[in-house]
Formats: sequence, structure tokens, C-alpha cells
Amino acid sequence: MNEQTLSMRLERVAAHVPQGARLADIGSDHGYLPVALALRGVIEAGVAGEVAQTPYASAQRTVRRNGLEQRITVRLADGLEAIEALDRITAVSLCGMGGDTLCEILERGKQRLSGSERLILQPNGGERELRGWLMANGYRIVCEELLRENRFDYEIIVAQKGEASAYSAEELYFGPLLMREKSPAFITKWQRMLRQKQQTLANFERARDAIPQEKRSDFARQVGWITQVLA
Ligand code: SAM
Repeated sequence: MNEQTLSMRLERVAAHVPQGARLADIGSDHGYLPVALALRGVIEAGVAGEVAQTPYASAQRTVRRNGLEQRITVRLADGLEAIEALDRITAVSLCGMGGDTLCEILERGKQRLSGSERLILQPNGGERELRGWLMANGYRIVCEELLRENRFDYEIIVAQKGEASAYSAEELYFGPLLMREKSPAFITKWQRMLRQKQQTLANFERARDAIPQEKRSDFARQVGWITQVLA
């Protein structure tokens, strides 16, 4: 992967960035996403935010190599602190980190958001909690995608503030749009998950006393939801 050839996962994230956007890519690593989008003429300007020194230096090199210093600013910053009011950011991408990290970054930095940005989120797990954060903070999920690459399932969640929605527990778990669409990728993922969860539940039953009742009930509820959604 490089700024010319993105992974399929980042390619699908890129597809949700509106033409002419001013993008803040937080946790940008090599900076491939904003640089690829600038090279393609999709974004007007971008910020690549990184909390760690090595990826920060790598993003700087990618921007310099492509002569994009005037359009992409690389900042060493924690989460949304990379965004400044003068950037006039219209889209924020947070990809390739755990859902709990995404929630934490959004919660700690929400005062940096104007409320009009499109959030393009690709969590590695923790999707239920992330959707819960979006709902609690007045966001509506406007698009969702599920894809499989290198034996991993990835969900992309696109959210926008305004006309907040109240999602059910099942919608937070599966994704309100994904569970309505029930694509072949969705069916395959949840068939696989059902087998795994049933196996875990059977293991829990064997070690009944060691597993808290609450945890066993949560797993049993998940197995019920998955069985229903696949029915
Ligand atoms: N976004 C890229 C992608 O999806 O391919 C890179 C993902 S990489 C696995 C995660 C990156 O997020 C790392 O480079 C890490 O340093 C950065 N990161 C983690 N926590 C962060 C935070 N609080 N603020 C900014 N960057 C962070």
C-alpha cells in the first residue's frame, strides 16, 4: 500500500469523502489517505494528525515527496487537537483504530468539531459502542459499509450531525443500515460470528461459575439477535 494504491479498506473510506472536502485524517500514519485524495483532486486541503513521532515523520515524508506541503498540513497532536478553526475542516476520518479509541478521541475532542463535519469512521471492533457514542451526541448514521480484506471484516460508518436518530440495541449492534440492507458480506460475517458466539456460549456454560451471569446473558442475547437477523 502507498499513496498511489490504497488498500481496499482505505479505498472504500476514500469513497465517502465528498468532492472539495477539507479533510482531517486523525491517526493518519503514513498520510496515505489525505495524500491520495489530494493527488486525485478530491480534497481541497487536508490535515494529517498523528500522536506518535515515527508515523508523524512518515506522513511528513509522504506529503513532501508529492509536493503537497501547501495543501496538506501534518500535525503532531493527540486526536482532534490536530484540528484548528482556521482549517475549516468539513470531513474527519478516523480509521484503523479500536472503537473504544475512536470514542475516546471523539469524546475528548468534541469541542473541536463545529457540528457540520461529516465523520467517516472505520473502527477495528467496538462498532456497537461507537454507534452508541454517535447516537448520544446527536449524530445520524447516513451510510454504512461492510467489507472483508485479508481475512478481516471492516465496517465503515459515516455520520452527520442533525436530526438525531434513536437506534435500537440491535441497530447499534449490527448497524441500522447494514441490517436493513443485509448484503452478502453481512450474511457471511454474521454466519461466521454466530458459529463463534455459539461456541463461546457453550464454553461459558461448561465454566458456568467462573463467568459472570451478566456476561453470559449478554452473549446469549447476541446469539438470539444474530439468529433472528439471519432468519
Ligand atoms: N488511519 C490509518 C489506516 O487506517 O490505515 C492508520 C491506522 S494505524 C493502525 C493507527 C494510527 O493511529 C497510528 O499511527 C497511531 O499512532 C495513531 N493514533 C492512535 N491514537 C491516536 C491519537 N489519540 N491521536 C492521533 N493519532 C493516534
